[in-house]
Order: sequence, then C-alpha cells, then structure tokens
Amino acid sequence: MAKVQPARETAAPLIPARPTLPALREAARACRACDLWKRGTQTVFGEGSSRAQVMLVGEQPGNDEDLAGQPFVGPAGKLLDRALEEAGIDRGQAYVTNVVKHFKWEPRGKRRIHAKPDVVEITACLPWLQAEIAVVKPRALVCLGSTAAQALIDRKFKVTQQRGQFVPSPLAPLVTATVHPSSILRAPDDVTRREERARFVADLQKVAKALSGG
Ligand code: SF4
Repeated sequence: MAKVQPARETAAPLIPARPTLPALREAARACRACDLWKRGTQTVFGEGSSRAQVMLVGEQPGNDEDLAGQPFVGPAGKLLDRALEEAGIDRGQAYVTNVVKHFKWEPRGKRRIHAKPDVVEITACLPWLQAEIAVVKPRALVCLGSTAAQALIDRKFKVTQQRGQFVPSPLAPLVTATVHPSSILRAPDDVTRREERARFVADLQKVAKALSGG
C-alpha cells in the first residue's frame, strides 16, 4: 500500500531517485502535492512502453479515465486511437499521458463536469510529466490542446495558430502541438467535426512523416 504524503508545493520531492515507469506510477498513487487528489477517484498515470517513440500529452484525465484509472480510454481516447491508426502511428508504440494526473471536475446535477486545472495545480503536477519524459525519451512529443502546449512549450503558445508546427525544445527532437481530441467531439455540427478530425489526423501524419525521416 502506497504511503500517503503530506501536502507540498510540487510533486518533485516524490520522484524516486532512480525513476522507472512502474516506480513513478507507484509513487504518484500517493501524491497529495495539490488539492486535486481530494476530488479525483485516483491518480491516472501515463501508459505505454518505456521505449515509445511518440509521447502524446493531454490536459488531465476525464470522467471515464478517472473511474478506469487509465488515460485516454473514453470517447476522446477512442478518437485518438483511430486518428493515430489513420496517421500511421501504432498506438502500441505510443505513450499517452496528461499534464495533470487527477480529474478536476465540478458537479452539475448528477454529472461531473470537466474543470480546467489552474497554474498551481499544473505546476504541482509537472514533475511527474517531466519524469515520464526523462524515462521514455520520446523522439516526438505531441501536446494535445493548449494546457499541454502552454505547460511544455511556451506560456503564450496558441494552438489555433501554431498547431502542426515543430518547435525547438530541449524536451525531444520533435516537439509539436495540436488540438485535444475532446475539442473535436465538442464541434457544433457534423461538418465541422469531420473537418476538425481531418485536420487532427493531418497534424499526426506530419509527426509520422518526421519520425520516418520524411
Ligand atoms: S493532480 Fe498531480 S500534483 Fe495534484 S495531487 Fe494529483 S498527482 Fe499530485
């Protein structure tokens, strides 16, 4: 049973001295570095191979992920799976994770509605993601949505304007950002949804092409 840790400013002191993905996942289960642990069912750590070539980073787990304890298993995750397949990226070769590891939500009737994590929560949680990047050392790092892009690339990064571009970064040889798949699901109509989905696949195809040396 993981030991409960007292509240602290960031998760940095919890990172194991010799981090591996299993050791990080186990340590993160007991994280209390921000208040989100009180709201979420459990810590939702990243998943995938420690040798993954591509790391995809979202904002935070959603309702389904919170209950399952796994990232990207709900409708947005299914969209991501299919888009990766269409782009020629094997989901089995990808590592998926989030900037924030607990589900932040607000009640609306009986439903739990997504709430955006704030800067304190993002700062507190970032050491987990930095440790995942350090262990996996992906060749391509893909930020899904503005929270991930602004946490990992630049505070002023605008996904709407800069999506699909590769930006210089110490984090990985190829670093880019696109929209979060949940934003495609929220499109106002079928035509927009189809268009947004095609743009999303096109952004992922650029990553596949760059990985293959194209
Ligand atoms: S959201 Fe991150 S920093 Fe906050 S308690 Fe959960 S794992 Fe720890």
